[in-house]
Order: sequence, then structure tokens, then C-alpha cells
Amino acid sequence: MPAPVVAIIGAGQAGFQVAASLHQEGFAGRVVLVGDEPFLPYQRPPLSKSYLAGNTGVEDLWLRPAEFYAKQQIDLVDSDAVIEIDRHHRRLRLASGAEISWNHLVIATGARFRPLPVPGAELDGVLPLRTLADADMLRQRLNEAREVVVVGAGFIGLEFASVAIAADADVHIIEITHHPMGRVVSAQTSRFFADAHRRWGAKISFATGVARILGGNGRVTAVETTDSRRLPADLVLICIGVIPNAELARDAGLAVDNGIVVDEYLATSDPAISAIGDCANFPTPFAIGRVRLESVQNAVDQGRCVAARIAGTPAVYDKVPWFWSDQGDLKLQIAGITTSHDASVVRGDDRSFSVFCFRAGRLIGVESVNRTGDHVVARRLLAGEPGLSPEQAADGNYDLRAHARGLSAR
Ligand code: FAD
Repeated sequence: MPAPVVAIIGAGQAGFQVAASLHQEGFAGRVVLVGDEPFLPYQRPPLSKSYLAGNTGVEDLWLRPAEFYAKQQIDLVDSDAVIEIDRHHRRLRLASGAEISWNHLVIATGARFRPLPVPGAELDGVLPLRTLADADMLRQRLNEAREVVVVGAGFIGLEFASVAIAADADVHIIEITHHPMGRVVSAQTSRFFADAHRRWGAKISFATGVARILGGNGRVTAVETTDSRRLPADLVLICIGVIPNAELARDAGLAVDNGIVVDEYLATSDPAISAIGDCANFPTPFAIGRVRLESVQNAVDQGRCVAARIAGTPAVYDKVPWFWSDQGDLKLQIAGITTSHDASVVRGDDRSFSVFCFRAGRLIGVESVNRTGDHVVARRLLAGEPGLSPEQAADGNYDLRAHARGLSAR
């Protein structure tokens, strides 16, 4: 019998993790990791933080050096895209014409940036931020840019804005809703970050869209807003979210609905195919119904979970979701998923605090600003039955660590 083959589509955070974890889990077959980018697998968070600011180099982005893949006997294929999943013959077809047969397939294709459908979006100087190539381009343009417009006040837009301000650019953030990061954080945290960005010098326009982008000689010169203002710009970042890369799966007849639909084991509607990371839509006890999460924790833990299952130790995926964002001198850390909370209390002061979010009296998530201790305890609490009341959470003298220790001792 030939050794079984695991093929992984997408050599990003999640794809890398399955490949790295398979041998640790005792898998003795062949592992092929196919990525369409011309780089070693790399981490994306620094692209909007230290790498963008020029404080770290490209070698700090690699998840492992090149030798790792040979040593671990991972066949790493770069600069080549999978263009078809043939489920019948269990074969992948690549853009280069190559074919790869598999016994188990893992789809870890991530997501791509969502383009802004307005006239002028194709002008030089209107840029996205998803890949290392995008970050290199932005880093170069940021050196010369004086007037920057950021479209979309999500995590990445705000991280970019704080780097641009530090680089002495004039920054104007425009956001279609009434709140920054409003899709994912509580009103308190959202307000706090809006104030912080204004204090650092950014202008922010809420409830404002882009009507069109104006240019001269092919280069961007201004953004015209939906309320008919013209914001001068020599650099525009479009950061209005992502689209999960699920077309390959859909074309192969797998269920797709805001990402590739998987079960609690992260298997698709075909048990020989799993999907993980930004492209996967999965059921979780940490939210109402299904979610598709975009975070390093999610990509890494799902990679480990699928590797263990392929190697013979199946387990339901039930890891506590967590996330972080660095903006200026503020570190935001989120444990759990807070979007559906119906009550919240704040612990701390106006420089360093945590928002404890509850639904029907149960703790469902904690957003911490410059309070890593709370974040660490929150992750422990959420991994079981937290048993924490809003009164205890709000009481600065109540010992959260002792509370968490008491729970794990029970
Ligand atoms: P990706 O890392 O996107 O990898 C998918 C890979 O698959 C890509 O290389 C893609 O090109 C490739 N691919 C797609 N289709 C094909 C195909 N057909 N054939 C071959 N290859 C293919 N998360 C945090 O938790 N904290 C942060 O602070 C944070 N900051 C971020 C900052 C930026 C600028 C970005 C872009 C993301 C950030 N994230 C952060 C999110 C985090 O990086 C992602 O959630 C994570 O990378 C998801 O891993 P993934 O493997 O699912 O997708």
C-alpha cells in the first residue's frame, strides 16, 4: 500500500499549521502544501503593524525557515494555484498543469480583500492590505504619502491609520457605519478607540461612504464622499472586509455559505475533505449558530484539530476564540465572541480596562485594553462554565485569578 497523502490548499497560517502538526501527531504519510504566493508561509499580523512601520524585516514574518519543510518532509509548492478539486479521482489540478493525488484534502485558502465598487478604485495609489506584496507596496508609498484616506474603520484600517499617523501623514478615516470596529466590539470599546484615534490626530467621518475616487494622470488625488466632500489624498487604503476563498469548494460541489460549511470536526460535506481558517464556516458553542472567524488563533487551533483527526485522534473543535489588535500604544485583546451580548460591565480605569460582556447573565466574552492579565484569565474562564457575575467582574477588588483557579480546582 502506498503511504497516504494529505494535500493542503493554501500555504498560509492554517495550511502551514496542519502540515507542521501532522507529523507531530504521528502521521506517517506524505504531506503536500500548495500555496499560490511566491513566499515561504508567513504571518500576516505584522503586515499592518511592525512590518508596515518598518520596525521588523521580512525574515521575521516567516512561520519557519526554508530548511524546516525539507526536514519535516513537507513538500512545499509555492507560486502555483490549485484550479480544480476533482473529488471523483481525488486529484488536484494546478495552474502549472501539475496534478496531485490525495487521500485527505484540507482546504485552507483564506480570504481575499473585498474591492470597493466605485469609479476610480483602479487608480494608482488606491491599495488593499492582505498580502506581503500589498504590505511592501504600502510601506513604499507611505514613505512619500502626505494625505492618506482610510476607507473602513475595522481592525486593519485602524492599525494602518495609527502607523500612517506615526509616519507624519494626515489621516482621514471614513466609515459607513456609526462606529469603528462596530461589527466585533462593544460600544464602550468602539468609542474608546474612536477617541484615541482622534487624539492621535486622525480625522474620522462616520456614516460616510465613498461616491468615487478622483485622479490625475492615473494617480489618485482625492476621495469624494457620499455627502459630497472632497478629501485630498495621495494614498487610499481600502479596508472594507474580505471575501472567503470558497469558489474551488463550491465548484467541487461542497456546501458553501459565507465560507465553506464544515461540521464540528471541521469536515466538509465530503468526509475526506476538511476546511479550516478564514475560509471555513463552522458551528461553535461560543456564538449563536455558525461563524467564520478571521484570526491567527482560529487558523492555528483548527489546523491542529484537523491534523489530529487525520492522524487518528478525532475531537470536536471547541477552542475559545481570541484575537488581538495593536493600535498606537493600545493593545486590544478579545477573548470569546462578544457581538451578541445583552449586558456589559467595565473593570479598570480610562487608560487600562476590560469590558466584560454577558448574555442572559452568562459571561460570553471580554475585551481588554492594555490589561493582558484580564485577557489571560478570561480565556481560562471561557474554556469552562465561567460562573462569574457582572457584580464580581465590575468589582476591582474581586480576585479574578482566584476565581478561575477555584473553577479549575472544582
Ligand atoms: P491565509 O493566511 O490568508 O492563507 C491562505 C493562503 O491560501 C494564502 O496564501 C492564499 O494566497 C492561498 N490560496 C488561496 N487560494 C489558493 C489556491 N487556489 N491555490 C493555492 N493557494 C491558494 N489575526 C489576529 O489574530 N491578530 C491580528 O493582529 C491580525 N492582524 C492581521 C493583519 C492583516 C494585515 C491581515 C491581512 C490579517 C490579520 N489577522 C490577524 C488575520 C489572520 O492573519 C488570518 O486570520 C490568518 O492569516 C488566516 O489564516 P488562513 O490560513 O486561513 O488564511
